[in-house]
Amino acid sequence: MTGISLDGKIAAITGGASGIGLEAAQALVEAGAIVHLFDRDEEALKTACDEIGATPVAVDLFDYAAVDAAVADIVARHGRFDILYANAGAYVGGKVWEGDASNWDMMLNLNINATFRSVRAVLPAMMAQGSGDVILTSSIAGAVPVVAEPIYTASKHAVQAFVHTVRRQVAPSGVRVAAVLPGPVHTPLLKDWDPERLRKEIDAGALMEPRDVAEAVLFMLTRRKGVIVRDLVILPHSFDI
Ligand code: NAD
Repeated sequence: MTGISLDGKIAAITGGASGIGLEAAQALVEAGAIVHLFDRDEEALKTACDEIGATPVAVDLFDYAAVDAAVADIVARHGRFDILYANAGAYVGGKVWEGDASNWDMMLNLNINATFRSVRAVLPAMMAQGSGDVILTSSIAGAVPVVAEPIYTASKHAVQAFVHTVRRQVAPSGVRVAAVLPGPVHTPLLKDWDPERLRKEIDAGALMEPRDVAEAVLFMLTRRKGVIVRDLVILPHSFDI
């Protein structure tokens, strides 16, 4: 299979202490990358990094100055920045006239503003070196409207709009910007799902494991220069959307 090696690549993964981010981190370490995990859950971060051999960066992604400083520190130490997997995100589902609408703000701010700011933080170094990969964890909800989750769907549609525009802004510099769009994955994020829906999906075998998404991300990152997998939709085969 044609592809590039990740040996010695300098990488960072946001939301790396749990779920999809943690599994992707493990896959990148196995592929030879030097991986930094950005997460605000310091305890989970330490356990994860000890386990897989990554470097912990305890940071709240809403603290934009701290994120900028952490990126600058990595560039100063390694002289480059090759991969950002902007993965951290939150979930709110349900009917818009029910529940606590103040939960929307945190989710929208994390899935949109903080994610976009983390991407912005790494672009200058990547553009200066003439290469780099930025992958965002979007969702199937970024490709089709999922009626059970209007606000989450809106946040991931924003991610798609960002990816498709920024990709073209930076393409001439050699930097690739892309999105992976998973269907339901068995991670702690689903704790906010309607329990009945979760039970139904588990019983139907309609949930993927984080490793499935990690392998998709690895595939995207190892395409040869000059090619981009711009959007990779990965679903449980029985998922009915
Ligand atoms: P998860 O809850 O297992 O992990 C999220 C991680 O992000 C946690 O470690 C958490 O501490 C960290 N985090 C949250 N807010 C943060 C902040 N402000 N600063 C720093 N770190 C923060 O979630 P997951 O299921 O692995 O989701 C990862 C991504 O995948 C999200 O963008 C989510 O929208 C997307 N996604 C998930 C599913 C799914 O079914 N699980 C499906 C499609 C897309």
